[in-house]
Amino acid sequence: MPFQLPPLPYPYHALEPHIDAMTMEIHHGKHHGTYVANLNKALEGHEAAEWPIEKIMEQVSRFPVAVRNNGGGHYNHSLFWTLLKPGGSAPTGAVLEAIQREFGSFDAFRDAFTQAGLNRFGSGWAWLIVNAEKKLQITSTPNQDNPLMDVAEVRGIPVLGMDVWEHAYYLKYQNRRADYINAFYNVINWDEVSRLYQQAVK
Ligand code: MN
Repeated sequence: MPFQLPPLPYPYHALEPHIDAMTMEIHHGKHHGTYVANLNKALEGHEAAEWPIEKIMEQVSRFPVAVRNNGGGHYNHSLFWTLLKPGGSAPTGAVLEAIQREFGSFDAFRDAFTQAGLNRFGSGWAWLIVNAEKKLQITSTPNQDNPLMDVAEVRGIPVLGMDVWEHAYYLKYQNRRADYINAFYNVINWDEVSRLYQQAVK
């Protein structure tokens, strides 16, 4: 199969108590696994089955909706696992300076990013992107859309993504999305955010 479920870069329980092991196991194995299986099915016999997922995202409007939903699910989750890290970390260097420049302070960024996650009605994602002007910007997308997609309202290169689908938090937090979002900040892999930022502004 051309698209594969990437292994989780840490054990299921590694993000406890902020994100519980059962949520991680189902989220990675079942939810992401199903996006991969359905993406492969949707692209069977199509040349795009050999393309990098980013290339498909950039012209997703040309594909059936199953590619938008499952290809988005595959790209988003492949990125999401790498943006989490047991014990978390703190932003430093160029990305921290850019956050302070664009949002005034890290706390102001955190408030705005939290609001983007809280205000996303139903299922979707909050994003920190590098936009066409090479500036950091917060946005959000419905369902499994993402800012790489040619159908996205606000386009750019994601450097941080937060899954606010109920499947990302319901077992531990039930309807309390705000509690999940607060916990999310304890497990962000800022080293990876920083790497993605420096790559995106090059
Ligand atoms: Mn998810």
